[in-house]
Amino acid sequence: MHFWISFLSSFLLAMVALLKKSFTKPALLMAFFFAFIIFYYGGICAFLILLSVFLLTILSDKFKNKKKHEVRRVIQIFVNVGIGAFCIFCYGISQQFLFYILYAVSMAEALSDTLASGIGSLSKKSPFHILTLQPSTPGLSGNVSFLGMAASFFGSSFIAMIFLLFHFHLVAFFLILLGGFGGALLDSYLGAILQVKYSCKVCHKITERKNHCGMPTQYHSGISFIDNNMVNFLSNFCSVLLACLLLAI
Ligand SMILES: [Zn+2]
Repeated sequence: MHFWISFLSSFLLAMVALLKKSFTKPALLMAFFFAFIIFYYGGICAFLILLSVFLLTILSDKFKNKKKHEVRRVIQIFVNVGIGAFCIFCYGISQQFLFYILYAVSMAEALSDTLASGIGSLSKKSPFHILTLQPSTPGLSGNVSFLGMAASFFGSSFIAMIFLLFHFHLVAFFLILLGGFGGALLDSYLGAILQVKYSCKVCHKITERKNHCGMPTQYHSGISFIDNNMVNFLSNFCSVLLACLLLAI
């Protein structure tokens, strides 16, 4: 019975993604697979957390790209939900509650980061760079804005609240809140320091794209193989580590 409820719920989630045209086909398959694992091993609370991340991500995409429709690829699903799905799988196998908390931390980080860039892009003031604290070109990794940080904090709080409703565990609540928000902040740091950036030969803007103004761009800074997906994966991993560290002290 539980198997079929998990199957059906994951199928419905994938159907919504299909109707919204928000995922590519491989991404859709992976999302279905992860959703199934999450419901099957984590139950309704874990699934509700995933559903919140999914729906709020769609909502924030709407704000972010009014003209351009964002379609998520399989790598994006993997870097945002992969670690969480692995944690919930570990929970299912071991029944160690710590893994359940780490799942929620990972999902809180994914949502925080998504909302920070989605809602943050609505900020009327120009964003500032996380390292120099100087105003920066909108759209670059390493940018932060007060609106983005508030949205990011909201994202983590939201996931922590859902968790609290099902498991009244205050330590877990703060771990999810701090791990998620801290991880999303770290995402900006790593984006600023490690992520590869290019400069446009035509308009001399700094960009993350390999092409700009119809011309190939040239290397500017960062590590060549570290792109936005890699930064997302690293910061998600670090959010889980941070929660473990906080728990240890
Ligand atoms: Zn250009």
